Amino acid sequence: MSATAAAAIVERTFLDELFDRGLLIETGVDGLYGRSGLFEEIGEGFQALVTRHGLADNAEIVRFPPGMSRAVFERSGYMKSFPQLAGTVHCFCGDPASHAGLLQTIKQKGDWTADQKASEIVLTPAACYPLYPAAARRGPLPAEGRLFDLLSYCFRHEPSRDPARQQMFRMREFVRMGTPDQVTSFRAAWLERGQALIGELELPCRLDVANDPFFGRAGKMLAINQRDQRLKFELLIPIESEANPTACLSFNYHQDHFGHTFGLTTASGETAHTACVGFGHERVILALLKHHGTEVKAWPMSVRKALWG
Ligand code: ATP
Ligand code: ZN
Repeated sequence: MSATAAAAIVERTFLDELFDRGLLIETGVDGLYGRSGLFEEIGEGFQALVTRHGLADNAEIVRFPPGMSRAVFERSGYMKSFPQLAGTVHCFCGDPASHAGLLQTIKQKGDWTADQKASEIVLTPAACYPLYPAAARRGPLPAEGRLFDLLSYCFRHEPSRDPARQQMFRMREFVRMGTPDQVTSFRAAWLERGQALIGELELPCRLDVANDPFFGRAGKMLAINQRDQRLKFELLIPIESEANPTACLSFNYHQDHFGHTFGLTTASGETAHTACVGFGHERVILALLKHHGTEVKAWPMSVRKALWG
């Protein structure tokens, strides 16, 4: 074997293996992939497992599409904290004359996107964003608060060759709204349940305090503050790297941030507190494939049972 051929074998990454096996399908864009039937089957098993672990709470199921209202997005303050991750939907709004110009620009390989106009839709950055104003519209929360079960494709502009960092991926979330006590005890319960759930899948994991990738210099302070107050925890599983394990589950306490922003109140008229637990759908599937191998039929019987009964 030549030295180049040997190097090529050594350099084959986990992403290459996923493409070779047809589990993920290349599109030409880093972080934007198709999924095979088998990949989706693993995902369905995982979602059923999450549902089982949360069943006793009787969460209200709500599904939003992967785009959300631009007005709500602006109000949420997302552009203040994470402008680098946001994706907006722009459309052609011209007349037949400008259409001719558009086609000409494309033909000449010019920047035809410059004349696209922002639509009223942006891509959903996290499954829970469209929920807060919708919940607030229902009026004050009942005394016991509310609990929602969400699942959505999300977009984040973070192109990468790490298969666990995609630009379009799914996020399952449970979102709790209520008093500080209701919300923090929900999060505490899921910190335990999350570890038990990943334990059933026989994956190595570690819980850690975390922060969101706030933008810019002011963002550094926000990140420090978030860590100091232990507002975000992540359940980390090694996927692409042993040294830098990947956040597969996140446990976020927003205090009254969303309650205040969207006018969500408790039964007694206080600003509601909120928390969410997020499950990275693709990340858990990838963790399973990484640790148990891409030959799914050869996975431990106990793991297969946890997923598919
Ligand atoms: P990271 O720190 O790796 O950027 P995060 O902790 O900021 O992720 P959250 O905003 O808490 O992510 O999103 C909730 C869940 O969505 C995460 O726990 C993770 O499993 C998943 N997730 C986040 N970003 C991505 C991505 N780019 N690709 C795939 N899954 C993701
Ligand atoms: Zn959330």
